[in-house]
Amino acid sequence: MLEKLASALPKAELHLHLEGTLEPEMVFALAKKHNVRLRFPSAAALREAYQFQDLQSFLDLYYEGAGVLRDEEDFHQLTLAYMDRVARDGVCHVEPFFDPQTHTGRGVAMREVVEGVVGGLREGEKKHGISWRLIPCFLRHLSEEEARKTWRDLIPFQKYFSAVGLDSSEKGNPPGKFSGVFAEVRAAGLCGVAHAGEEGPASSIREALEKLQAVRIDHGVRCVEDPDLVRELAKKRIPLTTCPLSNVRLCVYEKMSDHPLKKLLDAGVNATANSDDPPFFGGYLLDNWLSCLRELSLEKHHLVQLAKNSFEGSFLPEKEKAKWMEKVDQVAASCV
Ligand SMILES: [Zn+2]
Repeated sequence: MLEKLASALPKAELHLHLEGTLEPEMVFALAKKHNVRLRFPSAAALREAYQFQDLQSFLDLYYEGAGVLRDEEDFHQLTLAYMDRVARDGVCHVEPFFDPQTHTGRGVAMREVVEGVVGGLREGEKKHGISWRLIPCFLRHLSEEEARKTWRDLIPFQKYFSAVGLDSSEKGNPPGKFSGVFAEVRAAGLCGVAHAGEEGPASSIREALEKLQAVRIDHGVRCVEDPDLVRELAKKRIPLTTCPLSNVRLCVYEKMSDHPLKKLLDAGVNATANSDDPPFFGGYLLDNWLSCLRELSLEKHHLVQLAKNSFEGSFLPEKEKAKWMEKVDQVAASCV
């Protein structure tokens, strides 16, 4: 019964990397198109390699796979495939990330990347009625100077963006390293979001809030190590975009039953469940919800709260948010 409700509830996905939706089959099709030689003999062999010890071992394979994305059509195809896939999960709104530096660093023009992604989002919206916002991210293992250069290259496309994010290897790359470039982003009228408290400690969440003035924290699960911070996040309703299957695959938690999502919801934190990089971590949005439902023994009110949080934490206008909240209540009432 609760599985049915999880599937039927309208949902928004707030933590998803478009490059991380590359299915092995698409990697092989694009490699063929561009005459790229891969070090794996088949899509099945590549899928088998998706066993990771930590964030870095995943990132190595992730950047290698993204190397087959070369032109606007590739980015369009990648983005549309994601929209097609999540339409089946009851997803009504998406706010995906993309990593410009992963592509411009190997000679792909920013215009090809952005126009391709936006084209895919627009086609997905037309086909499935899924609304969208878009968030480019700086790679934190690179320098702030490189992030500043990327921001200058992004400015001509600013009308497409709702925020700018920070992702990649958290260890050794604290949010404060990018405080200057995020000040420039804010001065241009966009807000910041940041990955923090995944592999990094609870203090990195505080740092992202204070030094980047991040309005949303991606992951953020390690806030549970600091009860005062949990209370503060709950009081201010700062959204945490948690990614349960990703956390287990990357060994942040040994097993799903250790994941703090339910505790965060019970503490009144605006926590959501998202897929991060679905083919790498074993599931799209609904798979994440269902895994939490089973392993954390979520109840009906938790599912309703997760759905509401996903819209509350989005960059949709207040009127749109209210419309979706109402819709969530309607669906929940009809599913007893
Ligand atoms: Zn992420």
